[in-house]
Amino acid sequence: MNWYAELAARYGSPLYVYDLERVAAAQKDLRQALPGGFSLFYSFKANPHPEIARALRDGGALAEISSTGELNAAFAAGFDGSEVLLTGPGKTTEELEVAVDGGVRLFSVESPTDLWHVGQVAARRGVIADCLLRVNSAEPGAATSIRMTGAPSQFGFDEEMIPALMPELRAVPGTRLAGAHLFSLSNSKDEESLVAEFGHTISVAARLQRETGLPIRLLDIGGGFAAPYLTGGERPVYGGLRAGLETVLDAEFSGWRAGTPEIACESGRYLAGDCGTLVCTVVNIKESRGRRFVILDAGINTLGGMSGLGRLLPVSVGLNGATPDGERSPATLVGPLCTPGDILARNVSLPPLAPGDVVTIPNAGAYGMTASLVMFLGHPAPIEVVTHGHQVVSVSRIEFHRKYE
Ligand SMILES: *Cc1c(COP(=O)(O)O)cnc(C)c1O
Repeated sequence: MNWYAELAARYGSPLYVYDLERVAAAQKDLRQALPGGFSLFYSFKANPHPEIARALRDGGALAEISSTGELNAAFAAGFDGSEVLLTGPGKTTEELEVAVDGGVRLFSVESPTDLWHVGQVAARRGVIADCLLRVNSAEPGAATSIRMTGAPSQFGFDEEMIPALMPELRAVPGTRLAGAHLFSLSNSKDEESLVAEFGHTISVAARLQRETGLPIRLLDIGGGFAAPYLTGGERPVYGGLRAGLETVLDAEFSGWRAGTPEIACESGRYLAGDCGTLVCTVVNIKESRGRRFVILDAGINTLGGMSGLGRLLPVSVGLNGATPDGERSPATLVGPLCTPGDILARNVSLPPLAPGDVVTIPNAGAYGMTASLVMFLGHPAPIEVVTHGHQVVSVSRIEFHRKYE
């Protein structure tokens, strides 16, 4: 029996497998692509599993989180509050209190009132919060898929407003302006756009420092590193990124090699994406008006809930176990949920399949569980198996239960 089929037989189906060897390899590759001395934040929203986060922390990563749940995952992974950056446009007082009490001192703030909220909590606790201004830059840098700046946005300070706001922002009790945070690009395979966007980001930050006096001790230039998602393929290699970044940084921040400012990047999908494989089982095969439906035990409650919002995923399926050879034919891959939206893929070419066959979906380590409708229809959450190569490290399952207050 194949390894994944064996895990499904041993622990049940559907199940996610995360291989920590691949997490370490991804971190090594990303570090090699970046200039030496860069800090690297792991974005927990890709996958907050504590053992994945722990592996990244062991490799020197810091934690970028956006909720109390992610903060607890960071603590479970061994992060100290001083290694955490709290981001997000809607930080509540309660979340901020938990974070400050847990030792978090670094915040990305997205509006004047967000800065005040951080300051109020910090001042009440008698501490100083270091705040990065998240900047929504005035003009776009590179043309890209998902852009989050250059337009009205719930994220960040409109760059053009910062000069006038500066005196007020400098004077918020409980806070100290520590730098800038820009995150404008996601999932960019194209190295040229990535370098152009980072170049733009770095010059925006340098201009802000020059023209408004914004102190920049830490410059978080965001991310945008790509990874294959639910389909075959390899993480991109960014062979020219390091040199590209060094050139812009040397021009804009002459002290950066000595750590003034400290430069940081963020990544979720590049670090966690290719460690994960979703293993699931064919429950039933159904023909309807000439179309073959392959019904799996994993639907949008397990993977890619966003497809329920009208986005079909580029799912590719691997076969495991005793699958008969035979001619491939198109099929619609669906889950078990009682909604016509529970479609994982249309028109995938599959060999004959029978109930009980185990199939795998690759590159599911980032935005697998976290981007799924896990509560929808009340199936148990998938099992999560963490491995080190072919050695099982842990087996767990998230549980929901109603607790009456
Ligand atoms: C989501 C997010 C990331 C991670 O994005 P990936 O595409 O998974 O690398 C990084 N930074 C911020 C602020 C984010 O919101």
